[in-house]
Amino acid sequence: MNKKVDLFLEKREMVTRWYNILHDLPFEVPPPLHPQTLEPISPEDLLPIFPEAVIRQEVASEEFIDVPGEVLDIYRLWRPTPLIRARRLEEKLETPARIYYKFEGFSPVGSHKGNTAVAQAYYNRKEGVKRLTTETGAGQWGTALSMACAFFDLECTVYMVRISYTQKPYRRTLMEVYGSEVLPSPSSRTETGRGILASNPEHPGSLGIAISEAVEDAVSNPFTKYSLGSVLNHVLLHQTIIGEEVLLQLEQAGDKPDVVIGCVGGGSNFAGLVFPILRSFLQAKKSGKKAPQKPRIIAVEPTACPSLTRGLYAYDYGDSAGIVPALKMFTLGHGFVPPSIHAGGLRYHGMSPIISGLYKEGLIEAQAVGQKEVFQAAVLFSRTEGFLPAPESAHAVKVAIDVALEAKRENKSLSILFNLSGHGYLDLGAYEAHLKGSLEDYEPREEIERSLKDLPFSSAQEGS
Ligand SMILES: *Cc1c(COP(=O)(O)O)cnc(C)c1O
Repeated sequence: MNKKVDLFLEKREMVTRWYNILHDLPFEVPPPLHPQTLEPISPEDLLPIFPEAVIRQEVASEEFIDVPGEVLDIYRLWRPTPLIRARRLEEKLETPARIYYKFEGFSPVGSHKGNTAVAQAYYNRKEGVKRLTTETGAGQWGTALSMACAFFDLECTVYMVRISYTQKPYRRTLMEVYGSEVLPSPSSRTETGRGILASNPEHPGSLGIAISEAVEDAVSNPFTKYSLGSVLNHVLLHQTIIGEEVLLQLEQAGDKPDVVIGCVGGGSNFAGLVFPILRSFLQAKKSGKKAPQKPRIIAVEPTACPSLTRGLYAYDYGDSAGIVPALKMFTLGHGFVPPSIHAGGLRYHGMSPIISGLYKEGLIEAQAVGQKEVFQAAVLFSRTEGFLPAPESAHAVKVAIDVALEAKRENKSLSILFNLSGHGYLDLGAYEAHLKGSLEDYEPREEIERSLKDLPFSSAQEGS
């Protein structure tokens, strides 16, 4: 621990605090409910799962939280990440709009997920935890947590959705390089996994099942805790380092965004960019002052897993087996297994409760897009800007291009900002399929209707 990094670059400005939007929200975030009793859970209920520092952050009320020094030392490896003006893309589109992107692919693990992985590993290590468990879909989160555990001498067990485990071996190898044990989920390691395998030995797995397995492993073993890569308040908090940097960088650029765009799986990279930008607006509203002009803020999701645009605002489990607390959120139902689109990080049935609240209150918008148009946009972006977007991030690219073309039609000069949450160099199989024309679009309306009939404890649900 406490290993300093020597960087031979000019001194750059580091942001040293996270922004806690709970301080300024104009609404209450409904509390998580105990999965059996349906009573609001107390912080102590979470102690078998998370370290105390993380539980405190989940319900913190202060405006800013300092990034611990040892976490900052690691952030310095890749932070601040660049904010880039996409001039070649602007020229190609012949748009009067100015397009900026924040590039979170500039980290050892290739996405924004390292921002929270390092913080969570640090807090666990400090409280004497020896092993972390987690789930991963396509592998970005598992990779980020594996690196963080290697830095803090923690063991790490990753339950990887079986279909990705067999179809996407490179991320698995990367996690093993960092020293993690990677198991295909459903696995025979847990009761949940054994039960599912008994009825279907070929089950492809899902994120919901992998979460159930990872939590079961953590609560039934000593010195072991669980780590989640999105959705929860503390994860979103850690990602706000992105937007805090952007505020400084936009000031340098002398610009203000009129439209802000991010892709959403559980909502963490979107929150990281958007929350600090919302701050001045929310604070002015709260104190009754004249609020500054709020930018248009757009969350982009896949048509294959459209929790905001097609889901219900209701209490639902975060996992398949119903062993983790139920959250009030936009959900497609915990039994929903999304079609296997290439943006694996966007295949989650629910949405962060804070983002769900912002959407319900009309403070943000949402759009769903299909993967064919998403990959077309990603190829255009690569040919003009060079970087290859992660399939997840390409959802934001697609809508940024749409908005820029709209500005062109209306001859409007506006400023567009989006988060390029990761690079796609380990997703070349998906790009190959796109170039060969073999990608499919999905709109699983009937499956969604079916799984929404099966929300838990409907008596505890108020109308949504
Ligand atoms: C995991 C991931 C996402 C989706 O997760 P959020 O919590 O919604 O940010 C988006 N982009 C990339 C590159 C990812 O790895």
